[in-house]
Amino acid sequence: MTLRDITDKIAKAEISAGRPAGSVSLIAVSKVQPDERVEAVLQEGQRVFGENKVQEAAGKWPAFRSQFEGVQLHLIGPLQTNKARQAMELADYIHTLDRPKLAQTLARLAQELGRCPDLFIQVNTGEEDQKAGILPADADGFIAECQALDLPVRGLMCIPPVDEEASLHFALLAKIAARNGLSGLSMGMSSDFEKAIALGATHIRVGSAIFGDRVAG
Ligand SMILES: *Cc1c(COP(=O)(O)O)cnc(C)c1O
Repeated sequence: MTLRDITDKIAKAEISAGRPAGSVSLIAVSKVQPDERVEAVLQEGQRVFGENKVQEAAGKWPAFRSQFEGVQLHLIGPLQTNKARQAMELADYIHTLDRPKLAQTLARLAQELGRCPDLFIQVNTGEEDQKAGILPADADGFIAECQALDLPVRGLMCIPPVDEEASLHFALLAKIAARNGLSGLSMGMSSDFEKAIALGATHIRVGSAIFGDRVAG
């Protein structure tokens, strides 16, 4: 699919959900993609991108930013506390605030740096052992804890289990966000972003549908 195909599908999904045009932000997930492909998508006008790894993001985005104006960078992968400073210096958004220790580190660095990226709290809606994220039962408490630290929490993020109906997880995430007064919902990937939009996604993270399959490895 081309970028245009995706943006058309987003526009249609917004209409069928009765949501205002432009209410969904498309994050083009450029992890592991060759620079030529990323550059082609920048040339087409896309400015919002997502990366999984701080190191990889640091290796390519400073150069792209100097070449293209208005780039907005989202970090969507698990974040180690020892990479938090670099992440905060690089990114406009971090989607993977998932534990108290990271919240405390981000709060301390925000004081030091005088700024903080917008944050999403990752919720492990499927309660999977191998997946990061706060458990649904602990979400309300953790959200309050982050807000007490003055962190700019904009919403919640989830990655549904591969073998379950994604809509159930999107609905659960939306419910937790609503009862905590959070408006941002980072949910939906290449295979299910239309369902996510129907359930209120404000940020969808789409990689392979835009760029083609990631090179294995
Ligand atoms: C890789 C990745 C995506 C994009 O996945 P696609 O299936 O290629 O659209 C979205 N979110 C996260 C957290 C990812 O790691």
